[in-house]
Amino acid sequence: AKHDGRGAFRFFEASLDEAARKRRQMEVDLRDALQNGEFRLNFQPIFDLKADRIGGFEALLRWAHPVRGEVGPAEFIPVAEEIGLITAIGEWVMHEACRHATSWPDHVRIAVNVSPLQFRHPGFQAVILQALSRSGLAPNRLEVEITESVFLAGETPVLALLHRLREMGVRVALDDFGTGYSSLSYLRSFPFDKIKIDRSFVIGLAANDSSAAIVRAIVDLARALDMETTAEGVEDRDQLAQLRDQGCGNIQGYFFSRPVEGTGVDALLKTVFAQ
Ligand code: C2E
Ligand code: CA
Ligand code: CA
Ligand code: CA
Repeated sequence: AKHDGRGAFRFFEASLDEAARKRRQMEVDLRDALQNGEFRLNFQPIFDLKADRIGGFEALLRWAHPVRGEVGPAEFIPVAEEIGLITAIGEWVMHEACRHATSWPDHVRIAVNVSPLQFRHPGFQAVILQALSRSGLAPNRLEVEITESVFLAGETPVLALLHRLREMGVRVALDDFGTGYSSLSYLRSFPFDKIKIDRSFVIGLAANDSSAAIVRAIVDLARALDMETTAEGVEDRDQLAQLRDQGCGNIQGYFFSRPVEGTGVDALLKTVFAQ
């Protein structure tokens, strides 16, 4: 091929410029998004297989960008973390999530994702206390979802905070379980209320690879440690059947429902799911 190496390099440089420009624009736009009311929460049901009903909802952040339309959290949360905006955004999420959940039936919990930076911020416990007292939500209806990456910057202060949350009655879930480097060691450090089995293992169930054995091992381990399990990203009936066989307690995914707006929650709570 008559390939001009120099030209390819220029093209590469130009697309780097373009990426950097888009990135800077997103930073600028993110700084305004909170004030402009561009964020909202969606809620995805977590189905309790034993009780045969919805046991809770996970709050998932959405950004309605004035020009680009909806931007997903996977794209903007890393940027918000880098520019230190995640603490303020996370505080808004916590208040908004608790406010919504107060109008739900008592047995329905709200799960809130907390980024490592937000979790380690000195004001985090105060934010939770304030969100609970302002909304009047019972602490045991709030479940904080953290990933093992919160431990990377030092385990001791994180464990102390986890225990304080526990004393307040707030529940703690370990998210994306099995994808990190040392998930098992953190199970030894803190008695999480729940383990969320990462979607990659649920996907593997169909491929007939080692995922089924791994899911079974996680479920058994969780049971021995007196922790609940939720499988993420369940998209079809076969996955559901396998997870049920393996004793997984809760199911979350498009098979039951995609994330819905706050106004869609009531309808979902009235739905009888035919499994
Ligand atoms: P996550 O905590 O693992 O959340 C689950 C993600 O999987 C959500 O993506 C959800 O919409 C998606 N999902 C649920 N069921 C299925 C399914 O059956 N199939 C597929 N393909 N996907 C499914 P979403 O809403 O785009 O969020 C992505 C990530 O962004 C979340 O991953 C979480 O890490 C982060 N995030 C979302 N909201 C917040 C927030 O309020 N604060 C923080 N710090 N992070 C958030
Ligand atoms: Ca989560
Ligand atoms: Ca997850
Ligand atoms: Ca995940």
